[in-house]
Amino acid sequence: MAPIIGIAPCRTQLADYIESIRRAGGDPRVFDPAGDTPAGVVGTIGGLLLTGGPDVDPALYGQERLSVVSAVDRQRDEYEKALVLAAAAARVPVLAICRGLQILNVAHGGDLVQDIPTQLSGTLPHSLATPLCAMAHEVWITKGSLLASLMQEKLAEADACTVNSRHHQAIKRVAKGFEVTATAPDGVIEAIEFGGSGFCLGVQWHPENFWRTGEFRPIFEGFVEACASSRRGAGL
Ligand code: MN
Repeated sequence: MAPIIGIAPCRTQLADYIESIRRAGGDPRVFDPAGDTPAGVVGTIGGLLLTGGPDVDPALYGQERLSVVSAVDRQRDEYEKALVLAAAAARVPVLAICRGLQILNVAHGGDLVQDIPTQLSGTLPHSLATPLCAMAHEVWITKGSLLASLMQEKLAEADACTVNSRHHQAIKRVAKGFEVTATAPDGVIEAIEFGGSGFCLGVQWHPENFWRTGEFRPIFEGFVEACASSRRGAGL
């Protein structure tokens, strides 16, 4: 039976997340924060997919909000933070994309660069909105990481690939227990994963936009596979 993948509702390109999970063999279910508690969601899913969206409120990581930070959604922040912690406690696999990676890092105690162009110098353009699949920059993937093992068949010899990029924020201090497993050539963090066992991976780019052409299909397939086996392990 296909593992149920709980998808955090989002306003843009929700269909791409759903299709990416479906094509990887998962059973996508968009949960409803108005009706489902974080503990209730985690209790019924085989894996958690955190999606893109607005900036995380800097108050969550102890910073004053800069004026360039777009309207925040504190309710969504609090809900997803609780989800992240509940998923970690229950050892439910997590795949976190863009804002998802940022809330994953913040929920576990890390923090963020609030605005790459104004706070970091000499960076590449990371905010290329259209087209969705436009490749913006390379990422260098850490050898031996979960991400490297997933992308192995897609990477030729170098541990690098090109990705799209629609973010103006990035990870600054990495949460305890997590490792950086991809960076852009300018040093901006593009992926983190939990150092222990299990599947907990966050990527800063948008692999879900590529379900038609499959460039990042192994990420979704590896995630769904991990969700299926973790459910077996739990005797569900
Ligand atoms: Mn980027």
